Amino acid sequence: MPDIATYAAPRSLEQAVELLRSGAVTILAGGTDLMVQAQAGKAKFNPTLMNIRRIPELSGIVESGGVVRIGALTTVTDLLDSALIRQRFSALWQACDQFASDQIRNAATIGGNICNASPAGDTLVPLLVLDARVVLAGKPNGSVTRRTLPLAEFLLGPGRTARKPTELLEAVEIPVPPAGFVSAFFKFGTRPALDVAVIAISLGAVRNGRTLTGVRVGFGAVAPTPIRAPATEAILEGCTLDDATIAAAAAAAASEVHPISDVRASDWYRRELIGNMLRRMLDHVGNG
Ligand SMILES: Cc1cc2nc3c(=O)[nH]c(=O)nc-3n(C[C@H](O)[C@H](O)[C@H](O)COP(=O)(O)OP(=O)(O)OC[C@H]3O[C@@H](n4cnc5c(N)ncnc54)[C@H](O)[C@@H]3O)c2cc1C
Repeated sequence: MPDIATYAAPRSLEQAVELLRSGAVTILAGGTDLMVQAQAGKAKFNPTLMNIRRIPELSGIVESGGVVRIGALTTVTDLLDSALIRQRFSALWQACDQFASDQIRNAATIGGNICNASPAGDTLVPLLVLDARVVLAGKPNGSVTRRTLPLAEFLLGPGRTARKPTELLEAVEIPVPPAGFVSAFFKFGTRPALDVAVIAISLGAVRNGRTLTGVRVGFGAVAPTPIRAPATEAILEGCTLDDATIAAAAAAAASEVHPISDVRASDWYRRELIGNMLRRMLDHVGNG
């Protein structure tokens, strides 16, 4: 087991960022990634292990001023139980519905999913499509300061983010979408439950009949980070979802991703899935 000199469980955000400022700290939230990685020898603990679960500022789902703020400690179960998330952000709700098992959902936090930065992290693709921003708190000069970054700029690669070692992810913010906005998420794994995504797709757009505007398409598990799909979005923007448009979007999607082959699937199979599953999602959204 790891060589941890100090265990800390701060009771405020200020105490937590003060600890981060004063030395090398490993942050523990639900532990569903961290403990598994530590057991496998893939995560190295710093001298201080900081359990952040007693920090009240990191909890809650609140809508205010055109933004929904989701505290970093919000669990996947909390998101599933939230009427606000289900009504406003169905792609995120659907991702939570396909996430692991009840036991893992009860412990796994949205902050941990984001900071773990897996290319296949289930909440990340819908969050990208929903234009989410992360709020990072630190204490560089004696008082707590915050910076906000688009999620797309925060995720740098597998397990790599723009978070400084002295910063804590405090929350994720999602702008309230306009009237008529619809969103969806689909994950394909090699078995129906408890599986890492072979590919994931999310779509967000304002739907007027069969016409989509403000189209955002995101893919997971096909690049070092979850990605947006600009060529696919351009084909769909302002167009009626007829057979020709859907076929063109599916073809663009399959050609604009460059996945790797690994134990779960070949690059060819992933591209096929991306095209076929996007087609299915667009049929579904079009028939609304
Ligand atoms: C059996 C099993 C099934 C799983 N299934 C899925 C699945 O279907 N989909 C999926 O996406 N994931 C899955 N996971 C992975 C995992 O459950 C998620 O990534 C989860 O959201 C991680 O959250 P956590 O709170 O447990 O994070 P932790 O394990 O506590 O932390 C993860 C990482 O984030 C850092 N961190 C956590 N919170 C913060 C914060 N607020 N600020 C800064 N850094 C922070 C930690 O230091 C650590 O590096 C599964 C894991 C297991 C064990």
